[in-house]
Amino acid sequence: MTDLIRSWVESANAPDTDFPLNNLPYGVFSTNGSDPRCGVAIGDQILDLARMEADGLLTCDGALQTGRWNAFMAQGKAAWAALRANLTDMLAEGSGREAALRGYLVAQSDAVLHMPFDVTEYTDFYAGRHHAFNVGTMFRGPENALPPNWLHIPIGYNGRASSVVVSGTPVTRPNGQLKGPNDDAPRFGPSQRFDIELEMGAIVGQPSNGPISVAEAFDNIFGYVLLNDWSARDIQAWEYQPLGPFQAKATATTISPWIVTAAALEPFRTSTPEREKTLLPYLAEPAPMLYDIALEVGLTPKGGSETILSRTNYREMYYSAAQQLAHHTSSGCPMRVGDLLGSGTISGPTKDSRGSLLELSWGGKEPLTLDTGETRSFIEDHDTLALRGAALGEGYRIGFGPCTGELLPARKLEG
Ligand code: CA
Repeated sequence: MTDLIRSWVESANAPDTDFPLNNLPYGVFSTNGSDPRCGVAIGDQILDLARMEADGLLTCDGALQTGRWNAFMAQGKAAWAALRANLTDMLAEGSGREAALRGYLVAQSDAVLHMPFDVTEYTDFYAGRHHAFNVGTMFRGPENALPPNWLHIPIGYNGRASSVVVSGTPVTRPNGQLKGPNDDAPRFGPSQRFDIELEMGAIVGQPSNGPISVAEAFDNIFGYVLLNDWSARDIQAWEYQPLGPFQAKATATTISPWIVTAAALEPFRTSTPEREKTLLPYLAEPAPMLYDIALEVGLTPKGGSETILSRTNYREMYYSAAQQLAHHTSSGCPMRVGDLLGSGTISGPTKDSRGSLLELSWGGKEPLTLDTGETRSFIEDHDTLALRGAALGEGYRIGFGPCTGELLPARKLEG
């Protein structure tokens, strides 16, 4: 395990900061209504990379002037490594660059964060073993919990890039077609079983046009964000057969604002769990390609304090993002820079490590009691949900920053 790399930005050396020099996550920010610009988080500051490039202190062929990270990702692995090495050198304690760079630091508390990249397309998987088992048990019983394909194939569906929003964006409770098991006919109204899904998002940083191997897929992933796949369980239950989720998953998908690079997560690589069925060769992992990232979910009711609902870890995934991406290309499906892959809900084996309210409240049968004394089966209006995550090193953490959203009441229906 690598040690903390000390920085002359003193706040980056604190053991509880999400953004030590080892991290260097990329984001897009603005101050006082300025145009969004590219920056890197360091401690409680942002280094204004767009202005540094404009002033000739960095050269990325203008990619940092675009207000999003797609153009830089498209430059490829050599450019990724060069910028990271350059920033590490410049920000390290004793670099001698402090006087020249101080003026390029912006306090995070003075900045507004924006979408860090344009989401080209969005695919969401269903690749958490415990989540699939829990949901399957609720609907089909424990004997038939996992669909017959589940241990052989990372199941996914094509989502909507247009639904992806950055942390802090409010989410409006959806209206939709609802039909309970005892209803004669469907009706249209606000979802009563609105939920979260705790996931990681992998960002494709290099294009492919045809099948690629798991190793190639691993190399093509630029970085990761936290991802909340907001889900309307009641809309989903009525609409999902036979083609899968549609409007239930189209309201919003929230991501954390900083792209934590695969390079920063390198010391935290870990293997996927032991295979229960041997995978077909095109899905076998040649090396550990999952990451050890501690995750938690918190719920804050309006005017109340936060209750931590769940703690789990990304290493619970049965399939890594590299396996998912390789599978995604297996048909010849082209992938583009800025493609976002949701991992699937990350639940652990215990009750307090489940990544959705559907599982935590067992379909509403076992409501949760919050620290405020209120209970929850699903999300109520004006609840704020927060995902957090960090890879934990010796004396430092590679954090993602918050992934939050407040649920606003449903739009009023006519008549
Ligand atoms: Ca999902």
